[in-house]
Amino acid sequence: MKITEVRLGTISVPLRVPFKTALRTVNSVEDIIVEVHTDTGHVAYGEAPPTGAITGDTSGAILGALRDHIIKSIVGREVDDFENLLQTLNKSIVHNTSAKAAVDMALYDLYGQMYKIPVYKMLGGSRNNIVTDITISVNDPEEMARDTRTAIARGYDTLKIKVGANPALDIARLKAVREAAGPDIKLRIDANQAWSPKQAVRLLNQMQDLGLDIEFVEQPVPGADFEGLKYVTERAYVPVMADESVFSPADAVKIMQMGAADLVNIKLMKCGGLYNALKIATAAEVYGVECMIGCMLEAKVSVNAAVHLACAKNVITKIDLDGPVLCSEDPIVGGAVFEEQNITVSNAPGLGVIAIEGLRYLD
Ligand SMILES: [Mg+2]
Repeated sequence: MKITEVRLGTISVPLRVPFKTALRTVNSVEDIIVEVHTDTGHVAYGEAPPTGAITGDTSGAILGALRDHIIKSIVGREVDDFENLLQTLNKSIVHNTSAKAAVDMALYDLYGQMYKIPVYKMLGGSRNNIVTDITISVNDPEEMARDTRTAIARGYDTLKIKVGANPALDIARLKAVREAAGPDIKLRIDANQAWSPKQAVRLLNQMQDLGLDIEFVEQPVPGADFEGLKYVTERAYVPVMADESVFSPADAVKIMQMGAADLVNIKLMKCGGLYNALKIATAAEVYGVECMIGCMLEAKVSVNAAVHLACAKNVITKIDLDGPVLCSEDPIVGGAVFEEQNITVSNAPGLGVIAIEGLRYLD
């Protein structure tokens, strides 16, 4: 099975309701798609969301990395030369993890198709069903309480809340959500690097004293401040998860060696795909650190690859893959089935994505 061509395209998927964080409002998912063809007639897909504010990968950067570096390094290569092919991909250009992730997942898809095994089975196959949280958009407390009741009525038992812009308002919002949710629903929060270490400790311990019962906090301090993250981890009553601090496997190992976080968030777009995500998962197994699998605002092609990873590995105990359920339509044929919080992986060979409706080719 030889790679003959890689075509590029885009998809646009509207969201059910605008997605609001402290920093931005988004109305639709606009992602780059790669479509990899082989001489055997097999086709595989990958997806990269432009998330310049997080990864630095704009749509122009993703397309440039693919066209000028990545595609020419893999066209003509045998899929069966898998390990070497993945290393070639990772060496084809520095950084550009979103573009690499899109191609990485397509290569895993092809390898699985070739040997007729679903990727999650190939990587371990611990389960075929996972349960995701859902993010409650940042609004005034009353509206967030309403959204909380709606999410619980839809069956969710774990909610994620973005915090960080305004501590007093954050506390008011979390109080409203906890009151609406009752004691049995899990609440996890994501500060997206907003706080200083001392501010984080003070706020997190205040939240626990108020009985908000926070399951864990994602990235309380700036990503580069490993010492600050460790400071919070050692002093806050709330478990701390590293997200923006961990892009590469080397970042993950350093965070774990330092004991700088209790948990690590793996995202394919940060680390460059399944090949590197597996290294982070293995490091976490060695250090006894549990992982979450997360996503950007992504459609189902790339989230489906994350589902395969999560279904392969027991060390991934927390799931934040609500991208597809935030979308109002699903143009992806095949792949995992998303039924509110329950996600069931596909048993088709490879990743199981068969077609993408509305794919607009760029070439
Ligand atoms: Mg996060």
